[in-house]
Amino acid sequence: MHVPFVDLRAQHVPLTAAIEGTLRETIGRGDFIMGAAVERFETEFAAYIGTRHALGVGTGLSAIELALRAFDIGPGDEVIAPANTFIATVLAIMAVGARPVFVDMDASSYGIDASAIDAAVTSRTRAVVPVHLYGQPVDLDAVAAVARRHSLVVVEDAAQAHGARYKGKRAGSFGHAAAFSFYPSKNLGALGDGGMITTNDDRAAEKLRLLRNYGQRVKYYHAMPGTNSRLDTLQAAVLSVKLPHLDGWNAARRAHADVYSSRLAAHVLTPVVAANVEHIFHLYVVQTDERAALERRLSERQIHTGIHYPVPAHLQEACAPLGYKAGDFPVTEAAASRILSLPMYAELTDEQIHYVADAVCARM
Ligand SMILES: *Cc1c(COP(=O)(O)O)cnc(C)c1O
Repeated sequence: MHVPFVDLRAQHVPLTAAIEGTLRETIGRGDFIMGAAVERFETEFAAYIGTRHALGVGTGLSAIELALRAFDIGPGDEVIAPANTFIATVLAIMAVGARPVFVDMDASSYGIDASAIDAAVTSRTRAVVPVHLYGQPVDLDAVAAVARRHSLVVVEDAAQAHGARYKGKRAGSFGHAAAFSFYPSKNLGALGDGGMITTNDDRAAEKLRLLRNYGQRVKYYHAMPGTNSRLDTLQAAVLSVKLPHLDGWNAARRAHADVYSSRLAAHVLTPVVAANVEHIFHLYVVQTDERAALERRLSERQIHTGIHYPVPAHLQEACAPLGYKAGDFPVTEAAASRILSLPMYAELTDEQIHYVADAVCARM
């Protein structure tokens, strides 16, 4: 047997006819930039997440960056982010000219430790970017409370949390704005790059419409120095085909996670799902002191794993100018040397899941 880490082919085979149909239709219309399929998918995605607006952009990184710019965050400002995240969260903050200020993660959810945000706030702090890492929403009430106390803008990084819920509402509907990525392996992925910003703020939405499209409201009249970051029309058409399947895929991931957890809990530290949230298991992450051995054993059995992420953000070379050092965020750093992501995608078969579980449980 062979268990890939993700299997995009398995996801797309049953959708091939529908995807080919929508691509043919879009090619027939020829409206490749900001075409009808973009507006259609934006409307569908806003309805799905439960926000007034959804604005398609080029990537998830760009979604975070433009969301910050829409709220005028820039040079001289500090933005709080978790140390345990994919680098895009941090690079988006740097891209607007602001300074990332890290906070340690919560040991059980892997998300930002909301109780540590207060201590990181200075007179320059303007925003916080909580990341719903691995598909589990962070404690959004706690983040909102500290943000309110200090008048901070909240931009959710929901790039791993399409469809996840916090107290019954979708991740991406809580902050001043939220950023999604449609990178192919995300829970909702395009056939290339893509991103989306959701918001209930009419003014921010209007500004984002300009920012993503050269700052123009009317073609060749540029109201602000915007950029070129638009959701591709062909990708939007494909995403409209895939969105109706998202809840089913997420439910399958949750069911797979339940099987993994019941088989593995005695052998490794399995994910802890907080009360009041619906985790969508973008990643299924376990912890063990013997990670290298476990990784090797799985690899020998043709089981592919990943580490998300091997180097915490504050210790990345790209962040050296920020002046952080090893020991600054002990919870994140301890996890980084112990975490291992097991294969997780909706199309995993029972046979594959038990094959992986057998391999994890096997004696060395
Ligand atoms: C994937 C991801 C991003 C960036 O998305 P891209 O579309 O690859 O730019 C941002 N944040 C997190 C947490 C991600 O996982």
